[in-house]
Amino acid sequence: MKPLRTQLQTKRLSLRRQIQNLGPWMEGTLVTTSRKCGKENCACHHQGPKHPVLFVTWKEAGKTISLYIPRPLEAEVKQWTENYKRLKELIRQTSAVQKQMVRLRE
Ligand SMILES: [Zn+2]
Repeated sequence: MKPLRTQLQTKRLSLRRQIQNLGPWMEGTLVTTSRKCGKENCACHHQGPKHPVLFVTWKEAGKTISLYIPRPLEAEVKQWTENYKRLKELIRQTSAVQKQMVRLRE
């Protein structure tokens, strides 16, 4: 068994590599809603089902900001928000390693 300090350094390196290999990330919560389109003769203007649309929301200075996601970008943006969650988790784990390293020096 390697010393704890070496194990922590290995863990830290692994976490850093995972961050480097992560694709683009974007903060935000996915919100699906529905709305009418621009075509007056579409069923959505005549009691028919509305069209699902995707937004990403987040908070800035206490205000909720909402960003419309164009349909061709939906899958990509979903991946970016997943990457953001993963990044936050990797940051949390890296912090935990650093705290353990501090404790080793006590
Ligand atoms: Zn429509």
